[in-house]
Amino acid sequence: MYLESPKSSTESEIFFQTLVNESSQGISVADLKGRYVFVNPYFCQMMGYSETELLTMTVFDLKAPEQDHASFGQTKTVKENLTAQVLLQKNDGTIFMSEVVNRNITVTGQAYVLSTVLNISERIVTEKALLKSEKRNSVIIQIANDGVWDWHLDTGLVEFDERYYTMAGYKKDEFPYALEEWQKRVHKDDVVHATNSCQSYLAGTSSNFDIEFRFLRKNNTYMWIHGKGKIVERDENGTPLRFIGTHSDISVQKEHEEKILHQAHFDSLTFLPNRFLSLDRLTIACKEAKRNNELVALLFLDLDDFKKVNDTLGHEVGDRLLIDAADRLRHVVRSIDTVGRLGGDEFIIILGGLKTPKEAQPIVESLLKQFRNMFVINSRELLLTTSIGVAVYPNDASDSSELLRNADSAMYAAKECGRNTYSYYTSQMNECAQRRLAIEEQLHGALSRNEFCVYYQPKVDIVSSKIMGAEALLRWHNPILGNVPPDEFISIAEHTGAIIQLGQFVLQEALKQTAIWQQNFNINFQVAVNLSPRQFRDLQLIDMIKANLEKNKVSPALLELEITEGVLLSGHVHVKKVLKTITELGIKMAMDDFGTGYSSLSYLREYPFDVLKIDRSFISEMTSSYKDKALINAVISMSHALNLKVVAEGIETEQQLESLRHLGCDYGQGYLFSKPLSIEDMTRLLNDNPDASTLLKHN
Ligand code: C2E
Ligand code: MG
Ligand code: MG
Repeated sequence: MYLESPKSSTESEIFFQTLVNESSQGISVADLKGRYVFVNPYFCQMMGYSETELLTMTVFDLKAPEQDHASFGQTKTVKENLTAQVLLQKNDGTIFMSEVVNRNITVTGQAYVLSTVLNISERIVTEKALLKSEKRNSVIIQIANDGVWDWHLDTGLVEFDERYYTMAGYKKDEFPYALEEWQKRVHKDDVVHATNSCQSYLAGTSSNFDIEFRFLRKNNTYMWIHGKGKIVERDENGTPLRFIGTHSDISVQKEHEEKILHQAHFDSLTFLPNRFLSLDRLTIACKEAKRNNELVALLFLDLDDFKKVNDTLGHEVGDRLLIDAADRLRHVVRSIDTVGRLGGDEFIIILGGLKTPKEAQPIVESLLKQFRNMFVINSRELLLTTSIGVAVYPNDASDSSELLRNADSAMYAAKECGRNTYSYYTSQMNECAQRRLAIEEQLHGALSRNEFCVYYQPKVDIVSSKIMGAEALLRWHNPILGNVPPDEFISIAEHTGAIIQLGQFVLQEALKQTAIWQQNFNINFQVAVNLSPRQFRDLQLIDMIKANLEKNKVSPALLELEITEGVLLSGHVHVKKVLKTITELGIKMAMDDFGTGYSSLSYLREYPFDVLKIDRSFISEMTSSYKDKALINAVISMSHALNLKVVAEGIETEQQLESLRHLGCDYGQGYLFSKPLSIEDMTRLLNDNPDASTLLKHN
C-alpha cells in the first residue's frame, strides 16, 4: 500500500509515535554525556529495564565490562552514521552482541546521539557456522585434491579453480573460462559420451552427473578424470542456471585397474591372451563365422618334449623358450588372428573368416617350418618342434567348446603320428575321445564291483633258468566294455585319481599272494609291482606299503617297485624323498620301460635304482638291428657298472634269449616263458615247472 506523507503536525506526531513504539529495533537518544533522554519500548525489552529505570542511566551503564567506550566517544565528533558492534549487558547480567548505528542529531539547538540498536547475537552464530562450513568445504576440496568448476549456464562462463588447472599441469587461468576449452581437451573417444552425460543430466533425463574421461595434460599426455556435478540453482521455471562440480585425478587408480584387467586377460610370461580371453575370442569368432557364413580354423599346438627341456635345463630356460615360441607364433599369423596361451606349453591360434578348411593349410605348414629352426637360449642351440591339431567350425563342431575339444584330440593324433606334424580332426578321433570318456565312467566304482584282478608274469633268471619271481599286472573286466587293457585304463585312472585305490589293491593282492608262493614254493620268491606317478603324491603311500609288508610277513628285499621316467620328470623334491625312504626300507626300485621316453642316464645316477628293465621295443628289434643290439650291450655294461641288475622285457624268441644271455643280461620276462597268468595258472606253473627251461620246451 502506498503511504501518503502525513499532512498535519499532529498526524505526523502520531505516525512518529507509532513508528517508535512498534519498531522492532531498539531506539534511544542520549545527551553528549551519555545520559538517556529517550528510549523506545523495544529497547527497554531488549535490555530488561523499564523506561523509567533507563532514563536514569547512561549508555555506559549498559555496556558489558569488556566493552570499551570508544564508539560513543567517536559519534560525538562525526557527522554521518557510525556503525559499531557493541557488547551490551542486560539487566539479568547476560551479555549479547549488538549492532549500534549512532548519529549525531540536534534538537532545539541541543546536540544528542540517536542510536538504533539491533541484537545480532543470532546472526553472529549463523555467520560463524557459515564460515565454519565454508572453511570445512574448502579444506575438504583441498584434501581431496579435486579441481572445482562452476558453470553459469545463463552466461556460458565456466569458472575453473586453480587446482583444476594445476592438476593437469597448466598454470592458473592458462585457458579461458569456457566450455569449449574443456571439450577441446577431452579425449576424442570420450568427448561424445562426456558431453551427452552432461546434457542428459541438465535435461533431467538422468538423475546424476558422474563420468570418467581422459583429459589432455599440458605435456600432451592424457590423465583420467572422474567428474561429478550438481545443479545448484534454477530459475522460476526450473531451468538450470548454475552447475557446480569437481574433477578428481583417477589416473593412478585407472592404471591399476588396467593392469588388473590386463593380468586377468593376458599371460604374464608371453603377453599373449590367456586361456580366458582366448576362449572368449574363440566364441566370438564362431558367432561371427555363423553370421557371415564363413569358417573358423582352430589350431591347437603343443610343444614336443617341452617338459624334458624344462626338467633338464631348468625353468628359466623353459620360460625363455616359451617366450620365443610365442614370438614365432605371432609372426606367422595374420594380424587379425588370435594367438593365445592356454597354459604350460599349449597354445591356440584362431583363424577366422575362412571360406574353405584348406586356407588354414599354408599357415599350419609355415608354423611347423618356423619350429624347425633352432632356438638360441643363453648361446645354446635347442630344437623344439611342435604338434598341431586342426579343427574347423562349423564342419567339425557345433560350438566353440566342442571345437576346442576336437582340436585337442587332433593334436593328440599328431603326437601319435610321431610329433612335429599336424593332424586335421576326424570323427574317428571323436570315437577315441568317447572311448576315453566311457572308460572314465566305467572306472568309477569298478573296484568295489570286484571288476579287477591281478595277473602274474613269471620273471626268469637267465643264467640259472629258474623262475625267481613275477611282475604283478592289473586286469580289468567290465560287463559293458569287456576286457580293457591296462595301457588304456591306467593313464585314465592316473588322470582321475582312481589309480591311488587301484595301486593299493594291486599291492595288497600281490603281497598276499607272494606270501603264499614263498611258503609253498620258494622262500625267495620276488614280486614286482608297478607304481604310477600320481601314487607318489599320495601321502599314505609309504605307510600303506609298510603295513602290507608287515601284515603278510614279506621281506622288503623281495618287493620290487617299478616306476617309469614319468615319475621322475617332475623333478620334485618330494619324489626324491619318497624314493629315498623306499630304498631305506630295503625295498628294491626298478626303472621300467628303459629305452622309451627320454632314457636319461642321469636319472640312474641321481636316484637309488637297483634294477633296470629294458623295454620290449628294443628286445624285439635286437636280432635284426645291429644298433639295437649294441645299445642293449651298452645299457647292460653301464647298469652293471652302476651295480644295477638288468631285466629284459618281452622276450619272445629263443634267439633273443640266447643273445641276452650272451650279453650278460640278468633276468628275463616274456611270452617265450609265459604270458601273464591268473593265480591258479601261476600256481599250477610253479607246481609243475619251477624251472623255466621246462617252460621253453612246452612253448
Ligand atoms: P609294463 O610294466 O612294462 O608291463 C609289461 C607289459 O608287457 C605287460 O602288459 C605285459 O603283458 C607285456 N608283455 C610282457 N611280455 C611280453 C611279450 O613277450 N610280448 C608282448 N607283446 N608283451 C609282453 P600289460 O599287462 O598290458 O601292461 C601294460 C602296462 O600297463 C604295464 O607295462 C604297466 O606300465 C601298466 N600296468 C599294468 N599293471 C599295472 C599296475 O598294477 N599299476 C600300474 N601303475 N601300472 C600297471
Ligand atoms: Mg612294469
Ligand atoms: Mg615295462
